[in-house]
Amino acid sequence: MKKISILGSTGSIGTQTLDVVSMHPEQFQVEGLAAGNNTELLLQQVSQYKPRKVSVSTKDLADRIRPHLPATTEVFYGSEGLIEVAAGTDADTVVTAVMGSVGLRSTLAAIEAGKHIGLANKETLVTAGHLVTSLAHQKGVKLLPVDSEHSAIFQCMNGERREDVTGITITASGGSFRNLSREELEHVTVEDALKHPNWSMGSKITIDSATMVNKGLEVIEAHWLFNLSYDQINVLLHPESIIHSYVEYCDSSIIAQLGNPDMRVPIQYALTYPERWPSPSTRLSLTQVGSLQFKEMDLERFPCLRLAYECGRMGGTATTAFNAANEVAVSRFLNRDISFLQIEQIIEGVLEQHINSSVPDINVIEECDLRSRELALKL
Ligand code: NDP
Ligand code: MG
Repeated sequence: MKKISILGSTGSIGTQTLDVVSMHPEQFQVEGLAAGNNTELLLQQVSQYKPRKVSVSTKDLADRIRPHLPATTEVFYGSEGLIEVAAGTDADTVVTAVMGSVGLRSTLAAIEAGKHIGLANKETLVTAGHLVTSLAHQKGVKLLPVDSEHSAIFQCMNGERREDVTGITITASGGSFRNLSREELEHVTVEDALKHPNWSMGSKITIDSATMVNKGLEVIEAHWLFNLSYDQINVLLHPESIIHSYVEYCDSSIIAQLGNPDMRVPIQYALTYPERWPSPSTRLSLTQVGSLQFKEMDLERFPCLRLAYECGRMGGTATTAFNAANEVAVSRFLNRDISFLQIEQIIEGVLEQHINSSVPDINVIEECDLRSRELALKL
């Protein structure tokens, strides 16, 4: 029996994680679920999966749902509540699927409590990769990637010697606007941006895919997860999202992982590693796909990816500022406060004023996150 908790259970990754649980009901016990504001869905999840602890964003919401919870389920709220669900249950593995750097403290708390991490919340690694990876190392805790590209790379490295790896290539679908020129991006709308060609995901990551910030976050995520230098991490445009990523070895062999786009596959692998369990996911037929396309990444067309590499190479709080600026810019775009192209202008503006701190502790990280957010709101 695998005991798990999910941070962000009402989101895209959270609900798909529960789908995986439902496919193997005898094998999983859900110990904790943390949501934000979607109490209606959380209550449905509670009645189906019977967690011992749940959390919501505010005291008010906690008070409102308490009368509807079974006697065996306790409710918590706010960042303390998130930490309680992350670290205060019997779960062996915690799936971190909240959106944004708000997941940092709870991820660290889960690791501190010795829980393995099914890591979806990439913003946490981008914000404070050195803190998360060193604590995981110290506690002997596994960081199992949920992100499809990182799961692919992880799978392609299974049983290989790390010193034989020469580099990795992360594939990118190109997002909603992959066929548009920079001029055509001037007038795109929120609705256009939310139409991802291959994946159905939360709104923030869908916008991140269109700006290519998502690939930038993934490059930084890969740097921390696989201990690779930025020169060893490449990005390749691959519109079909069939090859999820690949690893190149010193003998010139390339090992890739393929499949139809379905997040339930990498989510399940993170939960069952090193085993593989059956999945109802549609089987890939290469004859049906027919052909696969690849194109070199254009950093002029996608400047946010260039900025991510620059911040990654700089290290310290540069990636914290990059992430915080982007989170605010995307939220402003979704609220129709700024245009699509202003997302990258805001990130660039925040980075121009950023003063880098090279080996920051958690307080310095949080201060930088806050300051970058304030600035991104003003620009
Ligand atoms: P969603 O927006 O769909 O879901 C976010 C979840 O986080 C919701 O459950 C939301 O709760 C919860 N949440 C948000 N803010 C808080 C908060 N302050 N406290 C507690 N809970 C909060 O996002 P996704 O599932 O798409 O993405 C989650 C993470 O996974 C992101 O880091 C993303 O980059 C990563 N990821 C996602 C992929 C995907 O296919 N979706 C693929 C690879 C990575 P509520 O809705 O109840 O308010
Ligand atoms: Mg991904």
